Amino acid sequence: MKIHRIKTGLVRIKENQISKTKGPAPQMLKVLLGKKWADWVPIYAWVIEHPEGIIVVDTGETSKTGQQGYLPEWHPYYAFAVQFKVHPQDEIGPQLLKLGIDPTKDVRKVIMTHMHTDHAGGLSHFPNSEILIEKNEYKVGSGISGKLAGYLPHRWPKWLKPNLITLPNEPYYGFNQSLAVTEDRKVMIVATPGHVANHISVVVEIEGIYYFLAGDTSYTQENLLNLIPDGIGTEQSINTLKRVLSFSKSNPTIYLPSHDPEIPERMENKEIVGNYVETIAS
Ligand SMILES: [Zn+2]
Repeated sequence: MKIHRIKTGLVRIKENQISKTKGPAPQMLKVLLGKKWADWVPIYAWVIEHPEGIIVVDTGETSKTGQQGYLPEWHPYYAFAVQFKVHPQDEIGPQLLKLGIDPTKDVRKVIMTHMHTDHAGGLSHFPNSEILIEKNEYKVGSGISGKLAGYLPHRWPKWLKPNLITLPNEPYYGFNQSLAVTEDRKVMIVATPGHVANHISVVVEIEGIYYFLAGDTSYTQENLLNLIPDGIGTEQSINTLKRVLSFSKSNPTIYLPSHDPEIPERMENKEIVGNYVETIAS
C-alpha cells in the first residue's frame, strides 16, 4: 500500500477563518470583514494504492476558478474571503496521469471528506469511479440552500450519482461512527464533524503507521495540537479535535489535513503527532 499526495494549486483565506477568534461578532461576519489574509496554502488531495484498487480522497480544485464567472461573485464569501491559484496542470487528472494512473479507468473509489469547492472541484476527472459522499453533507451542499451556504452544486458533474453513505455506529478506537472501505479494514472512514456538520476523514494504516487524511478537520496540525477550531465550523469541532488527538496519542499517527503547508516535511520525516502531544503535556 502507498499514499501519494497531490497538490492541486493554492488557496488563501482570511486569518480569522483559519483559527476561531474571540469576540461578540458573528464568526462569518468577522471572516468576511477580516482585513488580514493568511498566506497562500496548498490544496491537497490523496491517492491510496490498495490491493483492492486505487482510492482517491478529495479531488482538489479546478483551474476554472480562474475563469471569470465560474465562482459566484454575488456570494459574499467568494467576493471577499477566498482566492485561488490553480493552473490546468495542477488539477488532479493530469497529475494522476503523470503517476501512471488513468483517472477515467484506474480509480475504483473517490471518498469526499466534504463538498466544499476546493475538495470537489476535481470531481469531473472521475466519471467512472464510485463516489462516496456522506448522505447529509450531500443534501446540505445541494440546491439553493447549498449555494447560499457556499457550496457550488451547479458545478458538480452532471453525471454525478454518488454512493450516499451514512456511517454506522461502529466504534473505531475513540470514534463512535466508522465505516471500513476495504476488506482488510486498513482504510477506514471516521466521522469528524465540525468544519461542517457531516465532515468525514479517512484513516489509512500502512505498516503500523496511521495516515490521518483529515480534510478540513483543522487547517493545520498546530491548531489540532492546541485544540483551536476554525472560524466557520460548528460547536462539534472541539470534541472532534480532542478525539483525533487522543487517537494520535494511542496510535502512531501522521496528521494530514488538506491545507497544511508543513505536510511535505512531516511526511518525509514520518513525524508522528504523539511526539508533539508529549512535548505539550510536559
Ligand atoms: Zn471546507
